[in-house]
Amino acid sequence: MKTTEIMARLQAKYPTEKEYLQAVQEVLESIEEVYNQHPEFEKAKIVERLVEPDRIFTFRVTWIDDNGEVQTNLGYRVQFNSAIGPYKGGLRFHKAVTPSMLKFLGFEQTFKNALTTLPMGGAKGGSDFDPVGKSNAEIMRFCQAFMLELWRCIGPDQDIPAGDVGVGGREIGFLNGMYQKLAREYHTGVLTGKGATWGGSILRPEATGFGALYFTQHLLEKAGKDIVGKKVALSGFGNVAWGAATKARELGAKVVAISGPDGVCHIPEGITPEMIDYMLDMRASNRNKVEDMAVKFPDKAFFTAGKKAWSIPVDIALPCAFQNELSEDDAKELVANGCWCCCEVSNMGCQPGAIHYFQNNGILFAPGKAVNAGGVATSGLEMTQNAAHISWSAQEVDDKLHWIMQSIHEQCVKYGTRPDGTVDYVKGANIAGFMKVAEAMLEQGVI
Ligand code: GLU
Repeated sequence: MKTTEIMARLQAKYPTEKEYLQAVQEVLESIEEVYNQHPEFEKAKIVERLVEPDRIFTFRVTWIDDNGEVQTNLGYRVQFNSAIGPYKGGLRFHKAVTPSMLKFLGFEQTFKNALTTLPMGGAKGGSDFDPVGKSNAEIMRFCQAFMLELWRCIGPDQDIPAGDVGVGGREIGFLNGMYQKLAREYHTGVLTGKGATWGGSILRPEATGFGALYFTQHLLEKAGKDIVGKKVALSGFGNVAWGAATKARELGAKVVAISGPDGVCHIPEGITPEMIDYMLDMRASNRNKVEDMAVKFPDKAFFTAGKKAWSIPVDIALPCAFQNELSEDDAKELVANGCWCCCEVSNMGCQPGAIHYFQNNGILFAPGKAVNAGGVATSGLEMTQNAAHISWSAQEVDDKLHWIMQSIHEQCVKYGTRPDGTVDYVKGANIAGFMKVAEAMLEQGVI
């Protein structure tokens, strides 16, 4: 297998699908050497099969807004790979959603889910519906219209969606309500991220952020460092950033910056529990403005329009918002200001130039598919509880999440340790995820 040859073919076939090509390139570069040591992979054309989704559903979603006007959006479900388990992955509602974005996310999800140690295949879905500025009633009507099509593609042993950007507990509630009505069966396990009273797992809302910080702790420990007293910048103020801020604070770090599409809030004394709670109100308002934090806490948070979290001097950067949100220039600015660690919490949060800059300058860096896997892992734990008709305590879920993040870290170390003893977490995560999926595909024949 030659990465350059496969990429040339994919580029010719999907010339406009930038995010998808970027995600595939990163994985193929990492696995090329190991892959070529396994002639059985080459014979079964594992890579050629693995880079294409199993299937993509596309559907029209029509709904009526608060002014009585008819609106039409597109909905998608990309079922990428089910070699190790049923399709599993979130739904993203964002105006920029395209098949390319969902293909990249489904591809990443396949390897991420393999890293969790749980039997889950990879998928992703969503819509170009823009939740910004929408009322609660509009969100409900859109979710219901979306499920009217999606329900035929999913099932508890087939494909289990969850949240992602623009889809949180409220949206999962509306989606699940419509699914039950259509299916006429109480399938508790058809979506994850459900409410705690109707089959949701305790700690699922916090899990992505908590897991990211557990992973960061292991990475720091391996490098002989400690998180206590360290300054942290994070982007976004959704569910993931909220969980990350909560756990970072609990572990003794100081979150001094959060950002949004409008700019950054500098919080010199560190984020407080009241401010962390307020992040949830900011997200639920659908205003998508981080400036609201500075308006609410004028003596603690200071807003600068048009700047990113990466302009604030910190030790650790945690991108928690969107793909490609941290550029090479941002990486240079962070490092010039003293940053020495970046753990990607968003999916593909760093541009390739930023990753290379971090790696070439000895900055500790770990990719989203390892760092943020605690979210989908806890979805897997929710599926287990649903299948057994039981609920675990917060302690039980947290212990399992902790163990899973430790195991993901160990897999990265196993496959990513360089001759000098440092760890290439990108390579480690990609090879570990790939080996599991490739072996499962091989054992199940050419299908
Ligand atoms: N959207 C999340 C992710 O990127 C969670 C997916 C899930 O829980 O299925 O992994």
